[in-house]
Amino acid sequence: MQEIKKNKLLLHICCAGCGAFVSQLLSKDFDLTLYFFNPNIESANEYKRRKDEVIRIAALFNLPVIFDNYDHDEWLRTISGKENEPEKGARCYLCYKSRLKKTSEAAKKLGFSHFGTTLSVSPHKVYKYIKEIGENLAQENSVLFFDQDFKKENGFLLSANLSKELGLYRQNYCGCEFSKKNI
Ligand code: SF4
Repeated sequence: MQEIKKNKLLLHICCAGCGAFVSQLLSKDFDLTLYFFNPNIESANEYKRRKDEVIRIAALFNLPVIFDNYDHDEWLRTISGKENEPEKGARCYLCYKSRLKKTSEAAKKLGFSHFGTTLSVSPHKVYKYIKEIGENLAQENSVLFFDQDFKKENGFLLSANLSKELGLYRQNYCGCEFSKKNI
């Protein structure tokens, strides 16, 4: 029987927990590559901790993974002036945009038909922003945006359960120093 060729999707993952759940959902329909680009993470130690967990799930699910540049100082310049905004506000909008912009550009450069992100798994993320940013970038870069609010249908709970099952590290703050202040 002839194998059906799947579309290639570059999936931005914010952490291994969300990445494990979404990649399990999407790998049925897409030829997936994970893309870890998260310069928002406040320290090199925390970055390494999250990166090591992503290496684990990529090996576990036999998925290719790309790690892009980690430059937190550049990220701080990106959100400059919005540091004190509350979570889900203007700082987060710029943060999602910086990560999705890089993902869409990488998808275009590397010949993927689609790009997407796990960001919408979390109830702390604003799906409306993610959708708007993704659709704009899709137009700019001529790559399709895979748009899904993964927290729906118990997505967040299922993701948390899968993380527990796999023994993955689950951080208790989003990533930047401003979100860490709230814990
Ligand atoms: S709280 Fe999370 S999404 Fe918002 S700016 Fe910080 S790292 Fe980015």
